[in-house]
Amino acid sequence: MRHRQATTDVHHASIVSGGAVKVGDLELCVVSAGPLDIGEPQKAFDAASSDDVKVRELWTKSSIVVEQNVLAIRSQGRVAIFETGAPTKDSNASPLCSELTSAGIEPESVDAIIPTHAHLDHVGGIMRPNGQRNFPNARIHLHPSDVEFWLADERLGTRGERSALVARRNLNPNLDRLVLHADNQETFPGVTTMHTPGHTVGHTSFVIGSGSELLFVVGDIVHHPCQLAFPRIRMLFDTDPDAGVETRLKVLQFLASRTMPAFFYHFPFPGCGFVERAGEGYCFLPMPM
Ligand SMILES: [Zn+2]
Repeated sequence: MRHRQATTDVHHASIVSGGAVKVGDLELCVVSAGPLDIGEPQKAFDAASSDDVKVRELWTKSSIVVEQNVLAIRSQGRVAIFETGAPTKDSNASPLCSELTSAGIEPESVDAIIPTHAHLDHVGGIMRPNGQRNFPNARIHLHPSDVEFWLADERLGTRGERSALVARRNLNPNLDRLVLHADNQETFPGVTTMHTPGHTVGHTSFVIGSGSELLFVVGDIVHHPCQLAFPRIRMLFDTDPDAGVETRLKVLQFLASRTMPAFFYHFPFPGCGFVERAGEGYCFLPMPM
């Protein structure tokens, strides 16, 4: 897989112009849907849940900006993308669609959108502000619990209202295009679900590839590399922060005990690497692309 810095502030690691990177039978490509400001660290991470002074020092920043790495795969001639980025204001300029096109993937050729969950930075790029679809031929694969939770009237007026409104705008016009998946199910050729609740009720990670060549699509079990060093820090965007910690510990243990590379949506581009044990926690070894 090659990493090319584009002339704009977005970029992609592409497999399409020669030297295709494959995981088993799947061809992979990572493009950027642009950076995402998640606000003040103390509103995102519960520093009180970590006794470590170094972590508290990280929290003195005025805001944390993370990446939105979108993984595109080609499997048995069909194309899927994981996540769609946060909504954009301009109907005519979707940075994600531009990046996919420059990576050789036309938005019309996308058969499946596979968000790990229904938060606004994961489903917000399904529709344009003008109500048209960015990916007119795609079905949308989600866990049914997330669809039910984020479309429920009970979310309005709560801390999750912004995500709920984005979910309504992006999912309601597509209810007949939803593909609902269960745990441990092949929802798309070469893509097997692993229900990993906590961040949201239906949050789902994926094991992709074939044979012994596999890649783990993490989703938002981890947002920032410091959560590997200190996995018990509670994430305040989690629907259930305690379940989020429990799931994070299980998944990191799962990854560290195997030589399976992992893909992190919010890590520095392109977000691929290995998780290894380091002291009481874990560390991230980025994979060159
Ligand atoms: Zn996210």
